[in-house]
Amino acid sequence: MKRLLSGIKPTGDLTLGNYIGAIRQFVEMQKKYESFVFVADLHALTIYNDPKELKKRIHDILAIYLASGLDPKKTTIFVQSENLYHANLSWVLECNSYMGELSRMTQFKDKSKGKNGEAISCGLFTYPVLMASDILIYDADVVPTGIDQKQHVELARNLATRFNNRYGETFKLPEPIIPEEGAKIYDLQNPTKKMSKSDETGKGVIMLLESAESARKKIMSAVTDSDNKVIYDPINKPGISNLLVIYTSLKNKTMKEAEEEFANSKYGEFKSKVADAVCEFLEDLQKKYREIVESGEIPRILDESNEKVEKICKKKVQEVFEKIGVGR
Ligand code: ATP
Ligand code: MG
Repeated sequence: MKRLLSGIKPTGDLTLGNYIGAIRQFVEMQKKYESFVFVADLHALTIYNDPKELKKRIHDILAIYLASGLDPKKTTIFVQSENLYHANLSWVLECNSYMGELSRMTQFKDKSKGKNGEAISCGLFTYPVLMASDILIYDADVVPTGIDQKQHVELARNLATRFNNRYGETFKLPEPIIPEEGAKIYDLQNPTKKMSKSDETGKGVIMLLESAESARKKIMSAVTDSDNKVIYDPINKPGISNLLVIYTSLKNKTMKEAEEEFANSKYGEFKSKVADAVCEFLEDLQKKYREIVESGEIPRILDESNEKVEKICKKKVQEVFEKIGVGR
């Protein structure tokens, strides 16, 4: 069975973008792959987080993974920092990465834009290498992710190739898997910008644990255009197209079906149907989330996972150390 690995960092409350672009894929793909899905808490440290909030978000993500349908029998769910080997391998890979290639990462450019050097952590610069380590340490075959992370998976492939050429065959080259639709959900207030959990205002962002009522308001006030035609045209109609992607993703419909359904609808009517779909989805997810939190089963699931991942990672890191010549 091929291996899958992916994760989400607890830098904010999870959004509908994280669900449609990532979690939904993990749930679907666990049927076909031996899956490893983690909470990327070390990645969250690239920006400052209030420690108490960080802890709460880690627990929330774990519960959301389970509530969304990740099955611990099929998917090994774990917390990155509980496994010390990821950061260990990352240092070795950092020493085999170049300033030039990391400077070309568009996530780094976006996230550091307008800030001076004193306000950008070195971790923000090197986190794609930690991500490469997360992937390569498991010999993952596939990494499902939104389009924003594709470049980082390519970096992981480059680092693996470089290491294999220098030290002999060690790492498998991972493939990114980007969903065709829903690869990128946009901000409802600014539909040319990605919906992000670390967004400061949150006005155009739907959080998975926010109330249905508040989500409805955000959808109803989503920025659109003035031609009153519900058609998918991401270039000229980014707002409407984004709402259509959200609707089709949650309702499991094709774009053609949705366009036909709303052929005679005014925007208000269309938005209220999208809001219904989102509210129904949120209420169902939140109900399951509460059940999981109350069941108290998460610590046992994590303990079992840790035993499994530690074994895999220890073996890989020992192999790497042996090849590069460190240790006695
Ligand atoms: P941050 O703002 O802190 O970067 P984020 O919302 O971008 O947070 P990440 O933890 O960086 O979330 O990414 C987790 C996963 O969610 C990745 O696979 C990423 O591609 C996917 N993802 C994030 N935002 C979106 C979005 N708007 N649409 C589709 N997929 C998304
Ligand atoms: Mg991101």
